[in-house]
Amino acid sequence: MPGERDTSGDPDGAMPVAEFIALMQDYAGRRGLPVECGREVRRIEPHGRGYRIELDRETVLSRCVVVASGDQNVAVRPALAANVPDAVAQYDATSYRNPTSMPEGAVLVVGSGQSGGQIAEDLIRAGREVYLSTSRVARQTHSYRGRHSMAWMVDTGIMDIPKANLLAAGPIPTRALVGADHTISLQSLSAQGVQLLGRLTAIDAGRAHFDSDVSVNVAFGDTTAAETKARIDAWLTANGIMAPAARTDPAETVVPTLPDPAILELDLTQSVGSVVWCTGVRGDYTFLRVPAVLDNRGAPIESGGLTRVAGLCIAGVPYSVSRRSGTILAAAPDAERMVNHVEMVLRSN
Ligand SMILES: Cc1cc2nc3c(=O)[nH]c(=O)nc-3n(C[C@H](O)[C@H](O)[C@H](O)COP(=O)(O)OP(=O)(O)OC[C@H]3O[C@@H](n4cnc5c(N)ncnc54)[C@H](O)[C@@H]3O)c2cc1C
Repeated sequence: MPGERDTSGDPDGAMPVAEFIALMQDYAGRRGLPVECGREVRRIEPHGRGYRIELDRETVLSRCVVVASGDQNVAVRPALAANVPDAVAQYDATSYRNPTSMPEGAVLVVGSGQSGGQIAEDLIRAGREVYLSTSRVARQTHSYRGRHSMAWMVDTGIMDIPKANLLAAGPIPTRALVGADHTISLQSLSAQGVQLLGRLTAIDAGRAHFDSDVSVNVAFGDTTAAETKARIDAWLTANGIMAPAARTDPAETVVPTLPDPAILELDLTQSVGSVVWCTGVRGDYTFLRVPAVLDNRGAPIESGGLTRVAGLCIAGVPYSVSRRSGTILAAAPDAERMVNHVEMVLRSN
């Protein structure tokens, strides 16, 4: 957290959710932050030179508002989810809990990003039969040349590539597939028994249809992982930094075991007990009734937390400024920018 040091003794480790919550509570407590839990904001609208904020039990007026309701906490399902037969249970990455809380039968995980890859591995390790519908998602090797790849991505500036530069290469892609404490690749999942499928293209009459691009998706993961490593290597060389030699990662060298022939169709009622949609997340800003801050899909129009409307900030939007945005890494710079804005508005009486 901003201004804090890692005292875990394991900087490359993964903090379990309960520990992270405890860290946040401790942070708020030590800094005397006036957090009030369980207070739902039902509506925010312009009022005079500020805002009227309707809470569950009262209404308050404020000159400035920082909306931090989350941009990655509402699951997004594709429209074709509506065609899944009623007999098949449906979950999202946000409602999935563990392999034992799901009905019997095979599980179809749709989406091979971080959530899909991690959930597929969780299920297969518990002995469940798993199908994973894949697409073109980059892969991130967990550790490289002695450190967590994310640490190198911060040092090398990969996380600071501006949004405009990312957009110049096309639509901003899904964040790379990586495990919490080890590399997860499509081939490592296949070696554990996950049956890899192509992209889900349609569901009709109880049958799910997939394209035949699995091997293209595996190769895309390999290429992107290699590109990131090459950037790190080049940065180390350019800066004269000695780092341990690269070690082979078995999750990346294992040969993919692809269904032969490729599975292009699944009868959901016969072959699958449940589907887990790992097809993305968004924010819910329906309580925000302020003109010019949301686009026609309800997504925030902002840059680095600042909107076009004085005194209204929206925090936590992915890729708002750079790759850092939408991760905890952006909390400090975004907070500083928003606090400066609030201060400016309050002084501009
Ligand atoms: C699968 C996944 C993995 C991730 N992994 C990492 C990672 O490893 N490292 C990393 O740095 N980041 C990671 N992130 C991103 C990280 O979770 C977000 O950057 C961070 O949670 C954003 O914090 P936030 O406070 O903006 O929103 P949130 O953490 O979503 O918090 C928003 C809060 O606002 C509350 N709220 C919503 N609406 C209302 C309302 N109307 N009234 C009152 N309260 C409301 C919500 O209940 C919630 O408590 C990951 C995200 C996802 C989805």
